[in-house]
Amino acid sequence: MSGNASILSRLPFDEKLIYVDGEWTMSQASQTCRVENPDTAETIATVPECNAQDLDHAVKAAYTAFHDGPWVNEYSGAQRRDALLALATAIEESRQDIEELESLNTGKPISDVRVELDDTIDLFRFFAGYADKVEGRHIAAQTNRNLEGYTVKVPVGVVGFINAFNYPICLLAWKVAPALAAGCTVVFKPGPQTPLTTQYFAHLLHKTGKFPRGVFNVVLGGVGVGQALVDHDLVDKIGFTGSVATGKQVIRSTASTRNVRCTSVELGGKSPGVVMPDADLDKTAKLVVSGCMANAGMNCNALTRLWVHRSIYDEFMPRIKAAAEALVLRTPQDGATEMGPLIDKRQYDRVLEYIRIGREEDKAALLTGGQPALGRGYWIQPTVFFNVSPTARIATEEIFGPVLSVLEPFDSLDEVIEIERKNEFGLAAGIFTRRHQDIAKFTRKLRSGTIWVNNYNALYSYLPFGGFRNSGFGRELGYESFDGYLVPKSIIDDISY
Ligand code: NAD
Repeated sequence: MSGNASILSRLPFDEKLIYVDGEWTMSQASQTCRVENPDTAETIATVPECNAQDLDHAVKAAYTAFHDGPWVNEYSGAQRRDALLALATAIEESRQDIEELESLNTGKPISDVRVELDDTIDLFRFFAGYADKVEGRHIAAQTNRNLEGYTVKVPVGVVGFINAFNYPICLLAWKVAPALAAGCTVVFKPGPQTPLTTQYFAHLLHKTGKFPRGVFNVVLGGVGVGQALVDHDLVDKIGFTGSVATGKQVIRSTASTRNVRCTSVELGGKSPGVVMPDADLDKTAKLVVSGCMANAGMNCNALTRLWVHRSIYDEFMPRIKAAAEALVLRTPQDGATEMGPLIDKRQYDRVLEYIRIGREEDKAALLTGGQPALGRGYWIQPTVFFNVSPTARIATEEIFGPVLSVLEPFDSLDEVIEIERKNEFGLAAGIFTRRHQDIAKFTRKLRSGTIWVNNYNALYSYLPFGGFRNSGFGRELGYESFDGYLVPKSIIDDISY
């Protein structure tokens, strides 16, 4: 705990305060939230659990900043670009602190967090590049030569973000970088389990001196303050990442407020992978296991439903078993660690319950794992079931833990595609083969937001990410995400007047 204690003892912000309207302020609530280290289940911080008054303060600050402040009304796109570039540099300069803090609060292996910080910094630079490239269209007069028509794109307004716990700083960047680049102002709520790097981010944003007051605000807490954000009448857009159940609740709520508002919801997944007969079995086994177990399986696009062709099934299973058992589970701050613990007791209990369901209700065969690990915190062994029916609960429901279901062997890709059409989710999929006909069939027919061919989990700032069906709607990353924070206004000018 010594390295960990050191980052906690030199936090450059007071975790008991919230960042609202350009300053660190006391929450008006008396409630607090415990923040844990999932490796040990020890409490590492106590933060405020904001109430409706805090939320109202934050939304009004963002509203005033949007309508009356300089961010939208005086800054040029180039000034917003430079502010975002300065923020990227500030994150880069403090990245070691942020990495330690993120690893401590999430239990993520430090090597994974380093990659996430690379991505976070890159995202701010990437979206900074769009800030001075907001473009409308001129539409040549169609019916009356005297009427000039053109569009201008304007920022959506105040955006309320509600984040999941699984990639705290990285998903913050997915959301906040394009929204700020577009000229929106933001109220951000992290997952209740993982507030600390969001607070660190607010500290850095403030320190750059380039973001006027009210442009970025943080509220902390869970359902109560999240629901209040969704319900607030001065919010123009909600960007939500989380479970299907909460996402549906958010959609229902945004339809019931006085003004309807645009919403994007990034929800869960049960992503299939397909191993064809010509696949390189050694390479593929490792890709599949990391595709499923990355972030201890708490990954919306985790490869959790694996189809293996009958002709290679028996050869492939020992390789999957070996790859799962080779994963290094150690203290997250150890550079060799490859998989960390679950985030909290609720998630730990949920995953153990699904392992029970796999064994007892689905009657699936256990290839490896199935037990708690390391004897502390929220650790569970990488777990693989095989010969699982494609309709079994462990094959169809999102577990959000290190549990892979290898389905019963298949004979034809057409049969797989037909069954996957009924998958409740459509976030991601993978196929392992060198046959172009199979790749083309799979990528054309499957309704999934991201399809990996002979790799898994790679995501880039410039490629949009999002789902079909219950995986949600809206896109993050790429130009599409930036465009989601802009709305076109049509201007019609009678030049004969
Ligand atoms: P969750 O739905 O429990 O919580 C998500 C967020 O919503 C939290 O900040 C929570 O406090 C807040 N919340 C809860 N009730 C609310 C309400 N009534 N109104 C407003 N906000 C409310 O999800 P989680 O356990 O934090 O995250 C795991 C889920 O997130 C998984 O299903 C995962 O697949 C999904 N996820 C999706 C993506 C994606 O891009 N598609 C990325 C990461 C995670």
